[in-house]
Amino acid sequence: MATATLTIDLDAIAANWRAMDRMSDQTTQTAAVVKADAYGLGARRVARVLAEAGARRFFVAAAEEGAAVRQALGPGPQINVLGGHMAGDTEMVHDLDLTPMLNSVDQITRHLESLPGHPFGIQLDTGMNRLGLEAAEWEAVAPLVLEQGPELVMSHLACADEPDHPMNLAQLTEFHALTDGIGVPRSLAATGGILLGPDYHFELTRPGIGLYGGRPFGDARPVVGLSLPVIQVREVAPGEIVGYSCGYIADQPRLIATLAAGYADGLTRRYSGAATLWDGDTAVPLVGRVSMDLITADVTHLRDIPRALDMLGPMQGIDDLADIAGTIGYEVLTSLGHRYTRRYVSAMTRGQV
Ligand SMILES: *Cc1c(COP(=O)(O)O)cnc(C)c1O
Repeated sequence: MATATLTIDLDAIAANWRAMDRMSDQTTQTAAVVKADAYGLGARRVARVLAEAGARRFFVAAAEEGAAVRQALGPGPQINVLGGHMAGDTEMVHDLDLTPMLNSVDQITRHLESLPGHPFGIQLDTGMNRLGLEAAEWEAVAPLVLEQGPELVMSHLACADEPDHPMNLAQLTEFHALTDGIGVPRSLAATGGILLGPDYHFELTRPGIGLYGGRPFGDARPVVGLSLPVIQVREVAPGEIVGYSCGYIADQPRLIATLAAGYADGLTRRYSGAATLWDGDTAVPLVGRVSMDLITADVTHLRDIPRALDMLGPMQGIDDLADIAGTIGYEVLTSLGHRYTRRYVSAMTRGQV
């Protein structure tokens, strides 16, 4: 088989959700963010596992994403759309029973006019300046909106991955000023906000990356493994080059393995000459340029050439790769391409889908 295998540990996702759930007290509901196809891991499988673990409310970015989650979960669990109610969404919002988080006066008008009585939430801007009503807009429409019974009022923290950042307290204070006394369930915290402590939890938390094993949830169980098959091995003499642009030149006789994954699979060219693969706990340096479908690694020091090498596994997680590429674990995950054979594993069902 010449495609690499992405292993997704569903038990670890469930365990991470339960761990994040335990960080807030019992009056706080723990939702699950499954936008961008559950951070690239497969929204249907992931949403089902999280529902079994106890999640009752799910967040997606756009109404279109809600369709896959509703199909997977059936009626019952609430599916919130962070992008709100856009023109053209009305039928989906109605038919799939989605709950849009309304971000602007335009969206509020659209929702209340097109689907009166249909559940909705409100997103407020407390300083991030990305999505949500500004304070003055909220003041103007709050009496009318509150009369319509929103399910949830939320805002989002800009710097929650930095516990000491003054923005956290500033946004918390603003959120209180905008929402104290409204008598509607409130939500401010994603993964980073949960770790900031109970002041940030309110009635509902919205973890995403922590469920998938990423920073800032340091105690997360790793979720993904990525194993690349070795297609070919060759001897390279001193002075010979490997790969595009002569990105690597052998200084002495080398044994070079060519492996089946490249930048089209989310292994960014920034890993060129910089990343490490693993044969068990033995490091194998990636040499030369990452190409579209292939990468090359120096296996000179291995006694036996393995059938595959690990890009993600016990020795190297998504944040390690992110550090090499100068990005974040979120981007490593959501960049993983569609060519991998995805193996979903759990103690119950060890199988391939
Ligand atoms: C993506 C997102 C989340 C989840 O954030 P994590 O950092 O992945 O936990 C929560 N709320 C909003 C508004 C988001 O956009």
